[in-house]
Amino acid sequence: PTTVVLFTRDLRVRDHPALSAAAARSDAILPLFVLDPAVLGRSARNRIAYLRHALADLRASLRRRGADLVVRQGDTVTETLRAAAEARAEAVFLSEDVSLTARQRVRRLEGARIEVRTFPGVTVVPPLEITPSGRAHYAVFTPYWRAWERREWRPAVEPPERFALPPGIAPGPLPDQDLDRSGTGSLSPHRLTGGESHARRRLNTWIAEGIADYERYHDALGAAATSRLSADLRFGCLSPLEVASAAGACEGGVPYIRQLAWRDFHHQVTAAFPDIARRDYRPRDARWNDDEGALAAWREGRTGIPVVDAGMRQLLEEGFMHNRARLITAAFLTRELRIHWRRGGDHFHRLLLDGDVADNYGNWQWVAGTGNDTRPNRRFNLLRQARRFDPQGDYVRRHVPELARLDAADVHTPWRLERTPPGYPAPLVEIEGGVSRPR
Ligand code: FAD
Repeated sequence: PTTVVLFTRDLRVRDHPALSAAAARSDAILPLFVLDPAVLGRSARNRIAYLRHALADLRASLRRRGADLVVRQGDTVTETLRAAAEARAEAVFLSEDVSLTARQRVRRLEGARIEVRTFPGVTVVPPLEITPSGRAHYAVFTPYWRAWERREWRPAVEPPERFALPPGIAPGPLPDQDLDRSGTGSLSPHRLTGGESHARRRLNTWIAEGIADYERYHDALGAAATSRLSADLRFGCLSPLEVASAAGACEGGVPYIRQLAWRDFHHQVTAAFPDIARRDYRPRDARWNDDEGALAAWREGRTGIPVVDAGMRQLLEEGFMHNRARLITAAFLTRELRIHWRRGGDHFHRLLLDGDVADNYGNWQWVAGTGNDTRPNRRFNLLRQARRFDPQGDYVRRHVPELARLDAADVHTPWRLERTPPGYPAPLVEIEGGVSRPR
């Protein structure tokens, strides 16, 4: 028999349960990726650029195995069924995912006359495979983590060594740079390059050189001492299970594995509450402020609060932001400027290489107090955060050139200087003393 393996956000051959299961039972496999204008139109240009490289890498790796990546354009379900009919395939295999789009896709495929099977591979532990007694999902991380830690993982699967495409199937061209224009947001000049080969090199370096110091330095803004594997996990160029297993074999791996469990946590919340990007998970009686000028200043990294501006500019430059800076910039927007979490989440989503519905909006709601934080009224003291996590001001100086000459004592409070640095704005709100007051 012939099986179509529909790739979506699992752009790898290693530990790919759907691909390996197809190889185990089929004479021929049709590995398919559909460039769907409806999906691309909602994607960040940064992510489309990553995707193009990841597809080229996947094609090269499938060719080394005697097969190819078939690339089609159009509605994912229509094109999948069309390709299946051309190849006389009996089944479509794909990885299970939690987003609304992903679920609709499976439902529509199931409505056609073909066998459809979904497989794990997007998270370490499949969403909703562990549940608290009496509830459909975990709403709080700590008990989830306790259950997650006790859970045995499925074994990783070997990639098929060699397999063949069904006869008469044209692979189709890979997309070129023009495709990036179908997306939203701007293209960041200093992005990571996508694809399983690059991702594996990043993972190997991280395991060999970085992970041992993760617990000590992961919050240090200036150190850049985190794995930077989030986009590789987002696109499935790495199997999260493989990353967790590699970390598990390292001394000091547990704090890192805990972060992977956070990722799983947000996926199981989204599986239970698919509207995470649009509606309050825990409705909150908050009055939001529609200050378009302040929102624009925040987006551009021109709020006059150095640590906030450094984070927002890192996002523009790299399509990435350090986790501590994401917390600080999101808290500033929702708590100090009182601008709705959705506006902030949407801006992040237009730029982040790792932008993912579950993780992005799950974290935004957590910060805004409408999500899974058990202390939804927690207040961030921005200056204290800045001094604690960027004590020398390295992060600010790296991303805010107007402040590059200031030393550690002044870099977080340029408004106190007699002469403010040329070109740098006055603060949008006063943050002295911890609690901010609108100016
Ligand atoms: P590391 O510190 O090396 O962590 C390892 C991996 O664990 C990450 O690659 C990521 O997959 C996962 N992880 C770590 N922290 C979290 C977390 N809080 N939630 C979920 N997964 C986590 N992460 C995304 O992958 N996509 C997003 O769209 C996203 N949006 C965010 C928005 C806000 C407002 C905040 C506060 C956090 C967001 N995060 C998101 C989580 C986190 O900031 C990034 O995963 C992390 O900064 C990526 O860098 P890294 O790979 O070096 O992380």
